[in-house]
Amino acid sequence: MFIHQIPHFITQLFPKLNWSMPTIGMEDRRVYFTFDDGPTPEITNFVLDELDKFDAKATFFCIGKNVELNPELFQLIISKGHSVGNHTMNHANAWKYTLNEYLLNVQMCENLFERFNAHSVGFRPPYGRIYNKMIQSILPKSQIFMWSILTGDYNTELVPSKVFKKCLPKIKPGDIIVFHDSIKASKNLRILLPEFLTFCVSNNLVPSAL
Ligand SMILES: [Zn+2]
Repeated sequence: MFIHQIPHFITQLFPKLNWSMPTIGMEDRRVYFTFDDGPTPEITNFVLDELDKFDAKATFFCIGKNVELNPELFQLIISKGHSVGNHTMNHANAWKYTLNEYLLNVQMCENLFERFNAHSVGFRPPYGRIYNKMIQSILPKSQIFMWSILTGDYNTELVPSKVFKKCLPKIKPGDIIVFHDSIKASKNLRILLPEFLTFCVSNNLVPSAL
């Protein structure tokens, strides 16, 4: 069974990470759609068009090498008023790097963003792989964003109707929802994203950038 919602005990293990966003009063109906692993020409344009249709803003946790390959698409994301965040240069797996190598990789992605005059809202570790020493090293410079709802769009066995049933009724203000603007996830994303946006907008939830 796929776990779409992050269990409380995991968020408790790493309380300094942003698993969801604080809401400011009852009027605050913001939710945060995030897209990892792009920019990807085959699907990021679809995402941008869908967001435009709903007047929604979102956050793209980009891979540095995809930014280098698709600089215009990266700039298009920013010019449309969305946020961008750091997802390492090459989707680095924290278990396969020394801490110093990993931090250097994160810094290279940060430097790349600077070359585009792009402000990174924060860091998201690929595969969600993170440990305390890494958190201590990154946090003074950058916020770390995890998520509260995982759509599982990258899972090729996914049944979209089940995702709607499990995820949509649970969405509440402050939630950070993860999608992927990657080729692997594109088939599911084309079905999931319009439905998630329709649900949020019709329930007065406001998809916003971090
Ligand atoms: Zn990723």
